[in-house]
Amino acid sequence: MSISSKLPNVGTTIFTTMSKLASDCGAINLSQGFPGFDCDPVLVELVTKHMKAGLNQYAPMSGVPILREQIAVKTKLVHSVDLNSETEVTVVSGATEAIYAAVTAVVKQGDEVILFDPAYDCYAPAIELNGGKPVYVPLETPDFSVNWDKVKAAISEKTRLIMVNTPHNPSGYVWTSEDINTLVEFVENKDILIVSDEVYEHITFDGRKHLSLLTHLVLRERTFVCGSFGKTFHVTGWKIGYCLAPPKLTEEFRKIHQFLTFSSATPLQYALADYLSDPSHYLTLPDFYQKKRDLFCEGLKNTRFEFSPAQGSFFQMVSYANLSEESDYELAVRLTKEIGVASIPISVFFSNKKDYKILRFCFAKKDSDLIAALDKLQRFEL
Ligand code: GLN
Repeated sequence: MSISSKLPNVGTTIFTTMSKLASDCGAINLSQGFPGFDCDPVLVELVTKHMKAGLNQYAPMSGVPILREQIAVKTKLVHSVDLNSETEVTVVSGATEAIYAAVTAVVKQGDEVILFDPAYDCYAPAIELNGGKPVYVPLETPDFSVNWDKVKAAISEKTRLIMVNTPHNPSGYVWTSEDINTLVEFVENKDILIVSDEVYEHITFDGRKHLSLLTHLVLRERTFVCGSFGKTFHVTGWKIGYCLAPPKLTEEFRKIHQFLTFSSATPLQYALADYLSDPSHYLTLPDFYQKKRDLFCEGLKNTRFEFSPAQGSFFQMVSYANLSEESDYELAVRLTKEIGVASIPISVFFSNKKDYKILRFCFAKKDSDLIAALDKLQRFEL
């Protein structure tokens, strides 16, 4: 049997590759983005409680009502935006599903979709599988901010969707109100929709506030906002996320969601609903992660890497462009094997795999692991 691949250029993701290499080498894994510490034991007790109470059958397709309601309450508290939890909030199996379902709901054969470059790895395959054409707009180094002249030039009659990601993976760039306002100018009165990946919504630093695209009326009426409890509550393995979108978009989104997964794990949803009722569980996250970012950046000062502290997300980029010609992939592999610290080469996030000699380190790890990794990096001679 010969199979003609629908994604001929896609292999195993770099996150799987580097995590496996880290495990094979016994290295400290600062590559794949997941917390290197456990979630709050209260969450585990809540899941157990709901499982023991018999909440083990299918959840409603759109999510359990109490969780949808709690997501609406959080959105009101954080962004002062009122959502109808019946018609505008859908619980799904992780932000990856939310992004795939949103793209699938609206992208048709031949539609152009604007993507910022570099971008998280699941966007382009979702677009291509739906017959869409990714149109890449390069972000500006060194901070990976948006060059709006380039966005303007990329918009055409065929543009159907723009993929936004703030705070950004891998750079940590956080959109400003100027970014939001310029996007408004470009899409107002046009038939352009937006998928906004906001999975790091609660991880911003130095007093920066995450500005959700929901907060502007022109954007709100055309945007699918994708979120993830994996990032917010240190439970990436639970794969529970959500999509916030106006009723007409939600209707189309749910048509896809109901045939992708139909619904997501019931006891996890009830546990998350209980846990969300205490806002301190997400409002304390910026401080929690800023301490880790600061610890990591302090230690990096004693290496020869160049960096600016991340504005958001739990990733820190470092440049070695002034130190070596080695490719970022080779260096990431060598650091894992030789000194036992795994990272992600960011060339994999670029459409053309351009190598800026930048590595991405995840600092969502135990302080002891960050300190041990820094010690190794400080002693490493490039
Ligand atoms: N989002 C995580 C990262 O950027 C990876 C998740 C995954 O492995 N799919 O590292």
